[in-house]
Amino acid sequence: MRELQKQQAMAVANMMKIKYKVVVMSSKGGVGKSLVTSSLASALALMGRSVGVLDADFHGPSIHKMFGIPTGYGMLARMDGTIDPVVAPPGVKIASIGLLVPRDDVALIWRGPIKASAIRELLAYVNWGSLDYLLVDLPPGTGDEPLTLAQSIPKLNGIILVTIPSDVSKSVVKRAVAFASKMKIPVIGIIENMSYYRCPHGDIIYIFGKGAAREIAEEYGIPFLGSIPIDPRIRECNDSGKVFITEYPDSEAAQAIRDIASKVIDIVEGGKAKIPVVKEED
Ligand code: ADP
Repeated sequence: MRELQKQQAMAVANMMKIKYKVVVMSSKGGVGKSLVTSSLASALALMGRSVGVLDADFHGPSIHKMFGIPTGYGMLARMDGTIDPVVAPPGVKIASIGLLVPRDDVALIWRGPIKASAIRELLAYVNWGSLDYLLVDLPPGTGDEPLTLAQSIPKLNGIILVTIPSDVSKSVVKRAVAFASKMKIPVIGIIENMSYYRCPHGDIIYIFGKGAAREIAEEYGIPFLGSIPIDPRIRECNDSGKVFITEYPDSEAAQAIRDIASKVIDIVEGGKAKIPVVKEED
């Protein structure tokens, strides 16, 4: 019990040094949550903010790889038991279970309470130092687990939701919004990823449908932060550990990511994120 209290006190002290704590949640797996988290972190860093990313997607940690750091790279442990995050270009601090397990094929068979305690330990023992932003990449979905994890982060400033423009995502986003409302956590906004594909000759194809994320944002009065198109170079960069927005800064997707980062800065630093109001019948 004492250990737990000490850990919580350390986590709170650590979080006090970070101006804005933001969790990134997705409607489901594979919608690009990690891509959005890593890109947003890079964009914020390029805009002069000091940024850390905590990859709490324990079953499929991928943030480190998106920054070109191999699985099992390690994190420096200090004599006092604390650990240092790894710093990756363009200057983003990263802490992840993926840096601590030896290989990608080592499966973590952890139940909810263990994951909650792992997140608490990372929050308590990682030396982030003073940061402007800590982005926490949560496991996919809006089930009990990511929600419980979100709860274990002290002094959270807000949630960013990532979805794709399909109707299926709508109900899941609704659940996250209802959670935020119940837990009195502000929602910074919704990002729609894989919104469309622009063919080389300019035509736009809405592969996963059109407009669902914007509709739901309007329904709940939540900011719609922007749409990121499908760009095959994003996957190529992710697979080869290159940061997309610095590799292809002139692309439409990179511009969209920078616009989203500017909106996030405006909403978070301007104290504009609101706790959503959800009526019982919703
Ligand atoms: P999640 O974290 O939601 O599971 P990821 O961020 O790992 O999803 O993305 C899943 C895959 O889709 C990755 O290979 C990633 O490179 C790719 N991807 C994500 N967003 C885009 C996009 N806008 N265009 C092209 N590929 C994308």
